[in-house]
Amino acid sequence: MICIPITADTNKEALRDIERSCPIADFIELRMDLIANGKLEELIAAARSCSGRIRIIVTKRKKAEAAPAGKSLNTKAGTTDTTGQKVSLLKQAVELGADYIDIELTEGKESIEELRAACAARGDKTKVIVSYHNIKATPSLAKLKNIFQQAVAAKADVVKIVTLAQNAEDNLKVLSLIPYAQKYSIAIIALCMGDEGRISRAVAPFLGGFLSFATLEQGTQSAPGQLTVQEMKQINKLVRGEPLPRKSPVFSPAEKRPQNYVLLGNPVRQSFSPLMHNAALEEMGIEGRYTAFCVHDIGAVIRGLRGMDIRGAGVTIPYKIAVMEYLDDINDDALKIGAVNTIINNNGRLTGFNTDWLGLLLTLQEAMTIKDKTFVILGAGGTARAAVYGILQEGGIPIIANRTPEKGRILTGKLNCEFHSLNDIGKIKADCLINTTPVGMYPHNDKSPVVAKDLKGYKYVMDVIYNPLKTKILLDAEAQGCVVFPGLDMFVHQAAEQIRLWTGREPNRALMKKTVLERLAKIGC
Ligand code: NAP
Repeated sequence: MICIPITADTNKEALRDIERSCPIADFIELRMDLIANGKLEELIAAARSCSGRIRIIVTKRKKAEAAPAGKSLNTKAGTTDTTGQKVSLLKQAVELGADYIDIELTEGKESIEELRAACAARGDKTKVIVSYHNIKATPSLAKLKNIFQQAVAAKADVVKIVTLAQNAEDNLKVLSLIPYAQKYSIAIIALCMGDEGRISRAVAPFLGGFLSFATLEQGTQSAPGQLTVQEMKQINKLVRGEPLPRKSPVFSPAEKRPQNYVLLGNPVRQSFSPLMHNAALEEMGIEGRYTAFCVHDIGAVIRGLRGMDIRGAGVTIPYKIAVMEYLDDINDDALKIGAVNTIINNNGRLTGFNTDWLGLLLTLQEAMTIKDKTFVILGAGGTARAAVYGILQEGGIPIIANRTPEKGRILTGKLNCEFHSLNDIGKIKADCLINTTPVGMYPHNDKSPVVAKDLKGYKYVMDVIYNPLKTKILLDAEAQGCVVFPGLDMFVHQAAEQIRLWTGREPNRALMKKTVLERLAKIGC
């Protein structure tokens, strides 16, 4: 299992890193000694909102046990807090529902007992990691075993022993603690820091180590010698004998094999995507089909995809975030948005992209410039994130308005933009309103997330819903004299960008739009 340490300098940057880490890691470790003025409540809530399966470790490493961290491994790591201050922070973590708290063995038996009692008072939902870090050397095996026994005596749920490797043999000493701990049925994190210790980070998971730490990207190490998540995943594949991904994620258009694609979601029956994609693929003379599959286990489907001659996949509700952990690479835009709607399969190597934000931008840019304009975005889900990302890329000013204030505030906290309640929609001074909620979608055509009179102050109104073609909010906006953007244009553009990624060629967007319009007319929408 992989744990990404969150080592950002500020609360805002930490929120951003949490959003990028949760979809691809099993654990995150909140290093509260590194995140200046870190707001634990906000950080834990952000991680929970990103992923229901992420496990959260909270720690505040003491100076004597904190290795150099950050970009050039020169960030001042480690807290000078007293033991009492640390215990009170870790108790707060227990109250907030962290899965693990990490306390150094050297903080003393009494502190550990106090924390154990705090966990017990809340039903032992939070487990205690008792840790030992030696940032200067690796002690003898006898001493390491003694440290392990002391941690066990302190009733650790997990023992963590990390030392600096000065030579290759040091790795053997520390790794041998894993089978040693297994004899006592105690979970252990045992690995070495430093360049000489890299090998232990790669090997520990195969020996049965509880977890191994890996960084989101180069320059965010919480200790020397850490590998990136992608490097760890590649090593795992190599050792397990799975084929290593190839370098280029783009297919050669010259290849003559049929080019089949799939849509993965649940439900998918209502989707117009296969109809639209197939019309484009056929016109491009591409032999192959785009087929929708209703998916119950996204992990199993993605494993299957690697072995099949499927060139790419579209991903829709509810898997845009969940799919990320199964991919080999994630393009930077998708990583920053925190959602993937497109996968390229290059002979088993899967790369994730996001084209929703491009679809939205291209739609807006057909009738307005984005720079310096203010946009009120209704909703705080995946599409809202894509909208905020795209608008910021183009120099616009996004404002979030959402039904659930906590979810909206988490998003605005990360992106440093304003939050408003839905009741303020009529009072905010902004150029454009974008609905990213599903309110008004077929068959609820008579519903709108905004009362008609509140639309008066907006010059532009966009809806991301494409069925019906003109939702109630757009009809109301037209009646108030606003310029409106139906979701169909975004739908076409995001799909066309998918086809460009898969084939390297430009599809006929007008044909794609016509195909959907004809179907909508046929069903009377
Ligand atoms: P999501 O992650 O589930 O987010 C939905 C958001 O809508 C949440 O913030 C939710 O608020 C809000 N919401 C839901 N019901 C509401 C209600 N009755 N009143 C007020 N707010 C409500 O969904 P998503 O992935 O962003 O998708 C949203 C819509 O975009 C869907 O209709 C989808 O089909 C459409 N979409 C269109 C395109 C396109 O190409 N045109 C592309 C992608 C998505 P809370 O936070 O309070 O729960």
